[in-house]
Amino acid sequence: MKRKNKKRLLILFMVLIATIMITGLQANAVSERATLDNIEYSSENIPTEKLERIVKTMYGISEDTGENTRNILCIFGHSKANGTTKIIEHRYYSTAPKCRETISAIEYCTRSGCDYFMVLHTAYNRIVCCP
Ligand SMILES: [Zn+2]
Ligand SMILES: [Zn+2]
Repeated sequence: MKRKNKKRLLILFMVLIATIMITGLQANAVSERATLDNIEYSSENIPTEKLERIVKTMYGISEDTGENTRNILCIFGHSKANGTTKIIEHRYYSTAPKCRETISAIEYCTRSGCDYFMVLHTAYNRIVCCP
């Protein structure tokens, strides 16, 4: 019985390590030079607080350490939901049309305190916006 418990603890520990490693990879996966001043973001189906964190992480403009946090319940799997983000980077190109619109399909965790998200699909459009 004791041996079994030890084994279970070891598995839990390994899952935790794997989770931390995956989180690290995600943080480095997508990042571009941007500030919140030259980008505009919106979503019809992702809560504002979640959306802000997702956008900040995607564009590497998070003011915190950049380390993703997670809800303790998420060790056993996230409470996943899908949403769409629309991000406009103003004056992204030097010639007209200058602005770039990015539409991304996102999978994210609905639990509070969890920063997990994954970009499933991204489409770019050059849009007429700023002169
Ligand atoms: Zn989660
Ligand atoms: Zn613009």
